[in-house]
Amino acid sequence: MIVNGTARISSLTSHPRSHPEAPEPSSAAADAAPRDEVEVGRQRERASATPQTTFPFSAIVGQDEMRRALMIAAVDPSVGGVLVFGDRGTGKSTAIRGLAALLPPMKAVIGCPYSCDPGKPAGACPHCATHASSRKSHLAPVPVVDLPLGATEDRVVGALDLERALTRGEKAFEPGLLARANRGFLYIDEVNLLDDHLVDLLLDVAASGVNTVEREGLSVRHPAKFVLVGSGNPEEGELRPQLLDRFGLAVEVTTPTDLPTRIDVVRRRDAYERDPAGFCARYAKADRALQKRLTAARARLSALDVPDETLEAAARLCLALGTDGLRGELTLMRTARALAAYDGAETVGIDHLRQVAPSALRHRLRRNPLDESGSTARVVRAVEEVLGS
Ligand SMILES: [Zn+2]
Repeated sequence: MIVNGTARISSLTSHPRSHPEAPEPSSAAADAAPRDEVEVGRQRERASATPQTTFPFSAIVGQDEMRRALMIAAVDPSVGGVLVFGDRGTGKSTAIRGLAALLPPMKAVIGCPYSCDPGKPAGACPHCATHASSRKSHLAPVPVVDLPLGATEDRVVGALDLERALTRGEKAFEPGLLARANRGFLYIDEVNLLDDHLVDLLLDVAASGVNTVEREGLSVRHPAKFVLVGSGNPEEGELRPQLLDRFGLAVEVTTPTDLPTRIDVVRRRDAYERDPAGFCARYAKADRALQKRLTAARARLSALDVPDETLEAAARLCLALGTDGLRGELTLMRTARALAAYDGAETVGIDHLRQVAPSALRHRLRRNPLDESGSTARVVRAVEEVLGS
């Protein structure tokens, strides 16, 4: 259960990561180099002509709710970030990397540290605003940037070198992890152990799509549109409720308990590690089909209306659950719409609401001293009562 708890706030540096999730092909390198450098290496690897060797999204067994939430966030990033709570070693990191690798590569302005889209106005980009005439582009993979728990704020948001700026009059901004995450995903393992202030800041940037760094009267703004994906184990500390409900979706993952699924997970992981390229080739067709579906869903999203009766049902559901504010309804509606687009449906129906209600609402419930059942059970019960089964 992920609500009804108090936060355990930890300092940025007191919880070094010590438990990699399901191993990645370059886990040996990951031990030796900072994770973001490894990530750059991985991106280069993906962007080059070598075959894709990220564990394929379509080869992930089970964890349906997590996979669906990530897909929904990829169809409509305005749904907000995704929180994944649950056991270790359930493939959270694998899923996010698999999804990013599955997305079509993006056109990005060459030389722009924020990988701007050459087809769009420069907007908040300081690079593209001053290099308007030379916006040649290349194809780049959708980035997945890891935010390590020990990262300093400068490394995350970027560093302004005040001395250089003041003494030499140079714009001295060193872009940080948020710059690299633009148009992609920012992944935080154990987000519940990250400093609250930093989580708050990340949620602000994710919501606005712009990162502003201010030091002593100097300020730099740059685009930072990303889907924030946080994972954590609730037994090790919970997020403050004020932070919880700023994530669009929350999903729970558990280690599968049925035998055939467990066997399947182990078999595929073993096959992948023995021959990554061969394994990926076997799932390439399934991944391409998913990619096509995602691209089609994105294209049809804007044309998909939400009928009044669906909106009314969403509002009744949120009222019944007593969720704070209107964020729950808004997220529920957007999530249902993204799912309808993904399903290729003509309209957003009650059944779409029913399917996404737990992920969109379970982290928005207030504690009810008279009801100690888990948040998921409360949402499921309300869905049955309000929307029918
Ligand atoms: Zn740019």
